[in-house]
Amino acid sequence: MKSWLWAGTLGVTSLAWIVGIAIAQQPRKVDDAALRNSGKTGEEWLTNGLNYGETRFSPLKQINASNVSRLGLAWSYEMGPGGGTQESTPLVSNGVMYSVTNWSIVFALDARTGKEKWRWDPEVNHAAVAPKICCGVVNRGLGLYESKVFVPVNDGRLVALDMQTGKPVWEARVAYPQNSYTLTMAPRVIRGRVLVGVSGAEYPVRGFIAAYDANTGREAWKFYTVPGDFSKPPENEAMRRAMATWDTKATTQGWGGTVWDSISYDPESDLVYFGTGNAGPWPANLRHAENKENLYVCSIVALKAETGEYKWHFQLVPGDSWDYDAVQQLVLADIAINGQPRKVIMQASKNGFFYVLDRLTGKFISGQPFAKVSWAKGLDEATGKPIVNEGARYDDEKAAVVQPGPNGAHNWAPMSFNPNTGLVYIPSASGITFSYASDPNFELKPGQLNLGIVFGAPAGGRGGRGRGATANGGTQTGGEVATAAAQAASAPAVPAKAATRQPEPPVIGPDLTGNLLIAWDPVSHSVRWSKQGGGSTGGGTMTTAGNLLFQVVPNGLFRVYSADKGDLLLEIQTNLRSAMGPPMTFELDGKQYVTFQGGQGAAGTGFGGGAASRITPKLLTFVLDGKAPLPQPPPEDAK
Ligand code: CA
Repeated sequence: MKSWLWAGTLGVTSLAWIVGIAIAQQPRKVDDAALRNSGKTGEEWLTNGLNYGETRFSPLKQINASNVSRLGLAWSYEMGPGGGTQESTPLVSNGVMYSVTNWSIVFALDARTGKEKWRWDPEVNHAAVAPKICCGVVNRGLGLYESKVFVPVNDGRLVALDMQTGKPVWEARVAYPQNSYTLTMAPRVIRGRVLVGVSGAEYPVRGFIAAYDANTGREAWKFYTVPGDFSKPPENEAMRRAMATWDTKATTQGWGGTVWDSISYDPESDLVYFGTGNAGPWPANLRHAENKENLYVCSIVALKAETGEYKWHFQLVPGDSWDYDAVQQLVLADIAINGQPRKVIMQASKNGFFYVLDRLTGKFISGQPFAKVSWAKGLDEATGKPIVNEGARYDDEKAAVVQPGPNGAHNWAPMSFNPNTGLVYIPSASGITFSYASDPNFELKPGQLNLGIVFGAPAGGRGGRGRGATANGGTQTGGEVATAAAQAASAPAVPAKAATRQPEPPVIGPDLTGNLLIAWDPVSHSVRWSKQGGGSTGGGTMTTAGNLLFQVVPNGLFRVYSADKGDLLLEIQTNLRSAMGPPMTFELDGKQYVTFQGGQGAAGTGFGGGAASRITPKLLTFVLDGKAPLPQPPPEDAK
């Protein structure tokens, strides 16, 4: 009797053990349901931004305020030579980590150990493609679906790789670098299609987003964001409306509105959301765009995901003159406003305003500056349209000194939203002015940057040439300004007549200056807490149910704060120094890990240099009580 009971118990236990192993070994599918539920458990990180709403909020809480000080390196992976910022957020599925270098080299690692499973190099022609990427050679990430990994290659190809082997399955041509198009954004996979947009508004190109069949790579639909050839009929009703907002003398092809960072998705309404970049060239007068909206530049646009059909748009900056791309993360949340639950879409835009819109209709709910702003007095309460300061407008006779500048109050560095604290964590730059004046001798040069503004001496005294960037209280690296200024430095001096510098318009927004991390309350539109360190580009944030806010600082510091109060709980010097990417988290075999990548690397393209170029880019993974050694500092920094 006793032995039978014992044997019986063993049998049941063994069976449970065997079934448990079988379940554990059954790979989890990355199908539509998995993507819709991505981030619900936090174990895997299947899509850019963790979920379709791009919250970068993980419910994991093994790492929390009481133990985060024990966080140490579990393992690291050498990513290769580099030569740009490592902007990708790695993905994790079935214990495998997938990520991509700035030159679009894809790698798969055992997420427990960092051991490489495979690596695939698209062999981009560096010399040909680097000059076609306005702001540094970068790649912001990958997509996963069923058995494939999707990589938007810098040179305009979209490639599907076999998840197991890293071998190419299909290749689609999204656009050609010969036409000044490049790809830098992470794709979004929605119901069996891979969506991706293009970069190149500074050249400029005609912006678009397109959807490709995940099985075949065949194009399913394409949506242009700005009109093309005015002598031809518009592609659709949305383009017909857009054409009326442009001067037909201005162009025959390509005026910006590129889609280069965020794509979010609401499965309930089947609406896909993306932001659009600036118009090109930058100054409105060079596009004959004074008092014209130039649809759909600097806008948030919603399309029906199934068909690519236009549903609504909200234009943040009509007739943009300041390079205020509206492509920053589009975070979806259900929050209570005036006691009413609202389905919202939120953006901390380059232009310095934080926007809350109804995501079903595109109707403006609220918006206030989260950083110092002088180009506008505020937003119209009913429409959300900016009330532009006259002193912010410029041409070749009047220069305008405004803030934020072209690098923005918030650029690509990801923000995150924690539903427990109700706060949005924004990597930001505040108090940085820029002097704009149109180039009086502007001529469109095909295949080159065509910003249309004059670079020269920093903004000087009254009546001076009044142009160039000035950084007050902070510096920014990368971006159009650095590239264009470098080009201008090698170009012959422009025999321009002096543009009169207008008085700087009044500044609104929180009294914060420098490169910052801002914890923003999107309901009351106020700063709950803020910390020095960060910036609108580089690194980024991720937040968890452990009441933690993880921040990768562009200079290579890794910091963890309490999400509610902003208490600094941990700071680690990674020694990677620059070119940092955003953090992510996952759980495997009962352990929570935190991963990010960074480091400039030697294959420089005019950015970085010095000690930073001697650091090999690395992907770092942290765990509680991790004991692996951190990267060594560059030799000249070692004491
Ligand atoms: Ca831009």
